[in-house]
Amino acid sequence: MVAELISVGTELLLGNIVNTNAAFLARECAKLGLSLYYQTTVGDNPERLRETVRQALERSDVVILGGGLGPTQDDLTKEITAEVFGQKLKEDAHTRERIQTYFDARGTKNITENNWKQAMVPEEAIVVDNDNGTAPGLILEKDGKIAILLPGPPNELIPMFRKDIYPYLHEKQPETIVSEMVKLCGIGESRAETMISDMIEAQTNPTIATYAKTGEVHLRVTARAESEEAARLLIKPVLKELRVRFGSQIYTTDEHVSLEQAVVDLLKEQELTLTTVESCTGGLLAGRLVNVPGVSEVLKQGFVTYSNKAKRKLVGVKKATLREYGAVSDRTAREMARGAILTTGADAAVAVTGIAGPDGGSVEKPVGLVYIAVAVRGQMYVQECHFTGDRLKIRESSVASALTLLRTGILETAED
Ligand code: ATP
Ligand code: MG
Repeated sequence: MVAELISVGTELLLGNIVNTNAAFLARECAKLGLSLYYQTTVGDNPERLRETVRQALERSDVVILGGGLGPTQDDLTKEITAEVFGQKLKEDAHTRERIQTYFDARGTKNITENNWKQAMVPEEAIVVDNDNGTAPGLILEKDGKIAILLPGPPNELIPMFRKDIYPYLHEKQPETIVSEMVKLCGIGESRAETMISDMIEAQTNPTIATYAKTGEVHLRVTARAESEEAARLLIKPVLKELRVRFGSQIYTTDEHVSLEQAVVDLLKEQELTLTTVESCTGGLLAGRLVNVPGVSEVLKQGFVTYSNKAKRKLVGVKKATLREYGAVSDRTAREMARGAILTTGADAAVAVTGIAGPDGGSVEKPVGLVYIAVAVRGQMYVQECHFTGDRLKIRESSVASALTLLRTGILETAED
């Protein structure tokens, strides 16, 4: 089924509010397996809204409208859509009662007259209760076309969609859609895509979509079939082929597992403790690891050694090393990692030192130059990275690469 979104509101057109509803609804449509070809934003203008609704109903099976259901003069979505469907408005006693209850619960005595406008619904519409506001949602059906009208405030639209609209649309969908996520680290998007360009070109069902994240690439494999079981059967050989192509670069196939979670799981599995030593990331790496519940089992201590003095004092980087090679160097990164192991007795250490910018770069050591060192089980891994972007982006890229190098170090030194 083909779906289409219409966001109604002049404040959206003016950029006064960000259209988060459209992003939410688009993701939900993808989950439902609806093909979404158009998203339109239109102001509170009757002619243009009418034209937009008409056009959408011509080319799509399901049109989801958000906003303009409220009590004020400029709220026109319901009136216009009813007109396009050739339906009159009538008062819905149930909704009128709900509006009364809503205001009673808030101790509002003088309900303004315009609020009752929200109890007026298209005569053949399915009325969807709003648990968080006064304007109900509405579903209109005619000649195989569906219009779904939702209130604009996200705290009303999102729960209503999840509770009633999603099941309604799911029921209407003849097919089931299943998707699996394959998450990669240590590879860029263009390289990942090139490695599977033949698969992407040949794809019909399942499809493979690539998403670039900082330091990661995610691949979503989606299949449609008459049942969930049949869809999973279609996905299986594709996952197998992706495993062949990417090998250990796949850190998880679980949508809900993050890179830090995968690394922490690996440390636990290998019974390794970890320490971090950070210069340019300033605790961001430790912070990401601490996102993982239960990390205390592996992470005992971390250092933020921002100054040269801290690098010497806390993790024993040699004065001569800093003088000869500088704080941002392969040598310093190694000494940070080794020193952290000696000081803490941890089994593994990951060290980061680099230039996050915007100042502090030079010709030999430009902004974005970062050294990462991982010491694990007597082995040392060092990586020289050249990142681009602003200060935060460089720091986040450093963290992703540090987690990736740590993971590589653990995997390569593991006895199997
Ligand atoms: P109300 O009863 O509040 O008037 P409504 O259904 O008429 O609801 P709008 O008037 O269009 O909806 O929007 C109400 C508020 O909801 C906006 O001021 C805005 O804060 C939020 N909102 C509306 N549309 C969107 C959107 N697409 N994305 C995010 N927020 C939105
Ligand atoms: Mg409004």
